[in-house]
Amino acid sequence: MQESVIQSREVLQLWRHGHLIAYGLKEDDLYAVAPSLRDDLEKSVVAVVDRVGTASGTVLDWSKRGGYSRTLKLHWNCPKCGQQWWEDYTEESKNPHFGSSGCDCADWWLVEWSSSQVSDERTNACS
Ligand SMILES: [Zn+2]
Repeated sequence: MQESVIQSREVLQLWRHGHLIAYGLKEDDLYAVAPSLRDDLEKSVVAVVDRVGTASGTVLDWSKRGGYSRTLKLHWNCPKCGQQWWEDYTEESKNPHFGSSGCDCADWWLVEWSSSQVSDERTNACS
C-alpha cells in the first residue's frame, strides 16, 4: 500500500534567538551546516512529530539537459500525488537524503539514491 510509505517520526529542530537554523532526524544532522553551534549555549533543540515519507530519487545534471546548474540535483516524485521535487545534491549528501516536502502528503521525505546512478550521471557524455 502506498499509504505505508509515510510515517510519523520525530524530527529535531535547531533554534537560536528565535530563528530556525536546521532540521534533522538525528542531533548530528543539525550541526552539519554549523558545527560551532554544538557548543552554543543559546541554541535550543526542539523535537516535533512530523510525517516523514520515503521515496527513491534520481540524481540529474541539469547542465546536460539544456539548463544550467552549478550542482547536481536530486529529483524524486511523491509516491502519493506524483508531484516532482528536487534539492541540490552535493558530495556531502547523505543516503537517504532528508528533504522538505512541498505537497500535503508528507512534511519531509527521506530520499534514497543510487551511487552508481550518480557516477553514471557525472560521466555520461551529453546525449
Ligand atoms: Zn504528494
